[in-house]
Amino acid sequence: MFTRYDCFRHWEIFIITKTNIMQSIKNFSSLFLLLLSISAFSQKKALKPDPKVEALKTAVIKSIDGKSKMAQEMVDQVFSFSELGFQEIETSAYLTGILEKNGFAIERGIGGIPTAWMAKWGNGKPVIALGSDIDGIPKASQKPGVAYKEPIVEGAPGHGEGHNSGLPLLILSVLEVKKIMEEQKMPGTLVMWPGVAEELVGTKAWYVRDGYFKNVDACIFTHVGNNLGVSWGDAGNNGLVSVEFTFEGSSAHSAGAPWRGKSALDAVELMDIAWNFKREHLKPTQRSHYVITDGGDQPNVVPSKASVWYYLRERTYEDIKAMYDEALLYANSVAAMTGTKVSHRLLGTAWPGAFNKPIAESVYKNIQTVGLPVWDSADQQFARAVQKLVNAPKKTPRGEPIDGLSKKLDTLAGPVQFSMGGGSDDIADIAWNVPTVVLRYPSNIPGNPGHNWADAIAMATPIAHKGVVAGSKVVAATLLDMLTNPKIITDAWDYHKNVQTKETKYVSFVQPNDPPAIHLNKKIMDEYRPLLKKYYYDPTKYKTYLEQLGITYPQLQKKAF
Ligand SMILES: [Zn+2]
Repeated sequence: MFTRYDCFRHWEIFIITKTNIMQSIKNFSSLFLLLLSISAFSQKKALKPDPKVEALKTAVIKSIDGKSKMAQEMVDQVFSFSELGFQEIETSAYLTGILEKNGFAIERGIGGIPTAWMAKWGNGKPVIALGSDIDGIPKASQKPGVAYKEPIVEGAPGHGEGHNSGLPLLILSVLEVKKIMEEQKMPGTLVMWPGVAEELVGTKAWYVRDGYFKNVDACIFTHVGNNLGVSWGDAGNNGLVSVEFTFEGSSAHSAGAPWRGKSALDAVELMDIAWNFKREHLKPTQRSHYVITDGGDQPNVVPSKASVWYYLRERTYEDIKAMYDEALLYANSVAAMTGTKVSHRLLGTAWPGAFNKPIAESVYKNIQTVGLPVWDSADQQFARAVQKLVNAPKKTPRGEPIDGLSKKLDTLAGPVQFSMGGGSDDIADIAWNVPTVVLRYPSNIPGNPGHNWADAIAMATPIAHKGVVAGSKVVAATLLDMLTNPKIITDAWDYHKNVQTKETKYVSFVQPNDPPAIHLNKKIMDEYRPLLKKYYYDPTKYKTYLEQLGITYPQLQKKAF
């Protein structure tokens, strides 16, 4: 492992090259001074922000403002693909296409996952990874910009988690920062990557296992939210294992000779009953849920095969492991009871979230500079109509009112003091290995239920587009901070080693031979992709996806035809 504290040795070398100076004078009359001051900055590890770096940040923020059309196009395009986890074929082809066109080297199919990739540009240290999720939610197809439920394709997946927006946001940032890096001959490597199948927590622990993050100095992740925010320390969410149990018995005529059958479905049902009794004796922080993925074929045949898929969530590795072990015991026990055989497969996993303090502090300073987007009356009118539609709570869990879109910036949140548990995100597996933060950006409406068609309703509207532009500015400014101030990354590693992982050591639930569950969602996408194709956004014909769908934003009531 390289020394984190020597990450920026190249910096001083680059600033005295003649070519650099000549070229830079063309671009910026004040560049020489800038370079000298950055050099001094780097050597002295000054604590105060360098005015020249601040000037570059101001410039990048302004240039991203001029890219709102590109933001809208990318967000709308990915929204229209509506692909589920592990099947993000169109989405990945589209996003890597943009990056490739802009000089990024793409490695496709990383970790044996066909829709996963890594895109690299630049040279030397620091190596900064930038990622966001790209998958959708089953049965969440929804027209954007209308304040009523209306799928684009009935029963199809949709972006009911807003994962259509995060990578467009990052692409916007890196393309602008790349220009500055080229102009300034700034060293550093930008690594873009997608959270494939985040809804299945199916890839990030595998990326880590397979070594894709081992040379990364820091990671900025983005996730849609309804404010511009970042936090550090224990995020208060749960980690999990996602595991499928498959029972095998033997079939028989359900009426003619049921005594000769050994029902795999009996085993599944007994497993579920046992686990539901178990709940009473689990900590209140646990969450466990299941779906029966195979319940047999038809009633007159004793099911010889049946499967049940569990998510087992808890707040610590030890508690997740304990639940996992208990579930394995129950599965083996019901197999013995029913005379069936059981096997299990890990389909996904995530650690509980914990994020980096020094990076979060840097991000938050830029959040304060950028501020929330300016919402217009159409945005607010639409948000309030949707909040009414979904019967949104009147207050957030923190007691703040929910009324239209956020108008007040979130504060920089530290570790939670207490948590009742909740959802999971496998970005945690990266965050336990590399200093990482998650920037939340305001592209969605507060008070939505989550994982629902209603969460897709704003995701190809001006609300999503404005939120993406705001988030993109924060990422770009933070990248410039990280590229010019080595102290951020040395501090980040100091926190990572001496605080975050001092007592808690990362142990992956993914074993060396566990394959990623790339078979998931294939059947669903094979069924719906041809139907969705007719509705893919065509930016050559329509200014926006709303225009293509004939929606007048905000459309509060169905049009009478
Ligand atoms: Zn998500």
